[in-house]
Amino acid sequence: MSMLELRNLPSVERVLNSTALESAVHSFGRNGVVDLTREALTAARGKVMSGEPAPTAEDVAHQVLKLIGELAAPSPRPVINATGVIIHTNLGRAPLSEAAMWAAQAAAFGYSDLEIDLGTGRRGSRQAHLQSLLRRITGAEAALVVNNNASALLLGLSALAAGREVVVARGEAVEIGGGFRIPDVLRQSGCTLVDVGTTNRTYVRDYADAISDDTAAFLKAHASNFRIEGFTAEVNERDLADLGDGAGIPVLHDIGSGALLPTERYGLAHEPTPQESIAAGVGLVFFSGDKLLGGPQAGIVVGKSDLVQRLERHPLARAVRIDKMSLASLTATLVHYVYGDAETEIPVWRMISADPDTVHARALSWSDAVNSAKSGKTSVLPSRAAIGGGSLPGETLPSWTLSVAPQNGASPESVLAALRSQPTPVIARIEDDTVRLDPRTVLPDQDETVLRALISVMDQASLS
Ligand SMILES: *Cc1c(COP(=O)(O)O)cnc(C)c1O
Repeated sequence: MSMLELRNLPSVERVLNSTALESAVHSFGRNGVVDLTREALTAARGKVMSGEPAPTAEDVAHQVLKLIGELAAPSPRPVINATGVIIHTNLGRAPLSEAAMWAAQAAAFGYSDLEIDLGTGRRGSRQAHLQSLLRRITGAEAALVVNNNASALLLGLSALAAGREVVVARGEAVEIGGGFRIPDVLRQSGCTLVDVGTTNRTYVRDYADAISDDTAAFLKAHASNFRIEGFTAEVNERDLADLGDGAGIPVLHDIGSGALLPTERYGLAHEPTPQESIAAGVGLVFFSGDKLLGGPQAGIVVGKSDLVQRLERHPLARAVRIDKMSLASLTATLVHYVYGDAETEIPVWRMISADPDTVHARALSWSDAVNSAKSGKTSVLPSRAAIGGGSLPGETLPSWTLSVAPQNGASPESVLAALRSQPTPVIARIEDDTVRLDPRTVLPDQDETVLRALISVMDQASLS
């Protein structure tokens, strides 16, 4: 029967001639539409073989339009972060400030003086402006910016320590996530890891005892995403830098997040800053552009000139070079720190510094709007917002959430899924069996969209 049915499959030609595909052939080109028609017919043939009736030419044409729609869909798609996790790695980490966004757009859209000195007309450095900002902000002698912090470390270790030993405390041979492990990066850079101390305690004498003729560096890595509590001891940067100075061994410090503002000002634990590492005499400090710094993806290295120069001259520097859009938006982000308006202009810091009362008022206004539009039950409950992005593990900020109790036996998971399937997906979370939306991480102009999504989802839930 299915063999007979196969003969009823429309030909490529008939599908192409269907009115539904007229404008697609115009805008997408005949060849492209032919390819997609073949794909759609192959899929249809499979279905017919498994017993389904043959589709009409119009059916296949609509399938082709769907395939075109999928191909042309923007990706990544914008979503609304209502999770209360400020630096959400799966949602693209830090949203940019308006100035940083425009800077990236300007760099992307036209030509720029990326590598030309406008004074002399000769070749210039793409890093020059960024370097002067970073020196001013961190107090370092020199700076270099690359693709991300993982590549910055790979470059640093390759340039300074390939074929030699790097001393790391056992408690700092960590995995950051996303497949990034300090011991693996060391191996990949051609270094030998010499681990010292114990998981919970390491002393200066442990580092001192490990020094050999082959020691190229001491590496300190910030345990960004976990915390060891209790009977612990670690060596601070200053003591390690002093030990290194005596032996001609530089300290490399991977601080991860790169907070340029003091986190303790916002009731959070202290996150190490590049400024204090530099002041402690560390050789090189490594950090990310898109975590607490609040800018684009980038890896930033600041420190002593002779060390930074060795990184600049290493062949890997070219392989992990920063692109012009990230460079432009990172520059604009750093200008906020120089101007002193980081807390109001950079979204990550605006979210961290948001007053709980303001978050509460916003959650209440959402709840009022939803409850008056719908029979649905929402309430406003106290909650905690997290920093995320492997920064400040376990540290939270007092916040407020809109709590959506699922209707008619719908599971909280199904409400989360319905929110994700909205035209602009809304990402929420589950707490105590209710769906929670935290206004703290929702951008100021997104309230309308959140409300539209909520009302639509609650309509669906009460219909079913
Ligand atoms: C996040 C992190 C990295 C990786 O930084 P990317 O910019 O994501 O490459 C490296 N080290 C530490 C300590 C981190 O927290």
